[in-house]
Amino acid sequence: MGFNTELTRRLGIEAPIVQGGMQWVGYAELASAVSNAGGLGILTALTQPTPEDLRKEIAKTRTLTKKPFGVNITLLPTMNAPPYNEYAQVCINEGIKVVETAGNSPGPVIKLLKSAGIIILHKCTTIRHAASAVKLGVDFLSIDGFECAGHVGESDITNFILLSRARQSLGVPFIASGGFADGQGLAAALALGAEGINMGTRFMCTVEAPIHVKIKQAIVDASEHDTELVMRRWTNTSRLFKNKVASEALKVERASTTGKFEEIAPFVSGKRGREVFINGDKDFGVWTAGQVIGLIHDIPTCQELITRIEKEAIESVERTRKVFQPQSKL
Ligand code: NAD
Repeated sequence: MGFNTELTRRLGIEAPIVQGGMQWVGYAELASAVSNAGGLGILTALTQPTPEDLRKEIAKTRTLTKKPFGVNITLLPTMNAPPYNEYAQVCINEGIKVVETAGNSPGPVIKLLKSAGIIILHKCTTIRHAASAVKLGVDFLSIDGFECAGHVGESDITNFILLSRARQSLGVPFIASGGFADGQGLAAALALGAEGINMGTRFMCTVEAPIHVKIKQAIVDASEHDTELVMRRWTNTSRLFKNKVASEALKVERASTTGKFEEIAPFVSGKRGREVFINGDKDFGVWTAGQVIGLIHDIPTCQELITRIEKEAIESVERTRKVFQPQSKL
């Protein structure tokens, strides 16, 4: 296939498709499969218990792919604050070429990574945060619409608005994140000015994603209505798969008279959510999913998925081109 965008050129990848960071999902198996299929696979740093474990996971990924891959470092409230700079230092020491950053106050980590010449792809959910990241010198923005999984931000602006705002005002290349699962979506993102797309939930539902097959099937069975927004009260709104624990968490959030995060913590704990991916019980804990679950109907390999998306995108652009021909020529 032939895609030639700022993203494919700068990262040395074939398809303008990035696998976004996903807690408890972004391991070597998935990142290498996405990279081998022509996209950019990404390891999630905080999924590794220590910086040394991240170093080992990077080494493992290198045994599985010779193609470029990146690392995600997300800076959001956690129950145990991780040593972000040490994870960033591992990326530098291991010669990682691209890091996806996300979250609050990313300045110091971005500065450290940029000093080593690492390409920064910064994810944000508002144009205001994107503009601040531009000042920090990021190379690409990942514009994350309200449709997305996980941390949606507090502004609730969907990608139809956000992407055009990015095109109109940022002056830095960007990719589109949140709500993407197929080539029609890729073509639309390119039309709106993006250099590519980021997909998370779609990649969870692939053969190589290292999560239980029952969770992949739960994604296939779900509709776009099956997500829940939790933790708005703590300005850390997260879009979760709608299950028993997410609904209980929301009840606690609404009923709480103290407003203390500790009340909801046992429900939203990442450790409990991780078990879901291991034991396959979709109701064991909370796990993130985007509204795009309504567009996911199968469990392909990463190669099948990326090849299909490329083909659909090209067909979609050709179909659109026909609209501009005079009717007599059709
Ligand atoms: P965790 O178990 O520490 O926390 C569970 C959830 O509660 C997370 O969404 C976290 O942001 C939130 N939280 C924790 N303390 C909070 C507080 N004091 N106030 C408000 N919200 C609070 O998290 P985890 O699942 O072990 O994940 C570790 C980190 O990775 C978290 O920062 C999480 O947000 C982040 N994360 C990253 C990705 C990614 O794509 N890289 C995806 C999901 C989560």
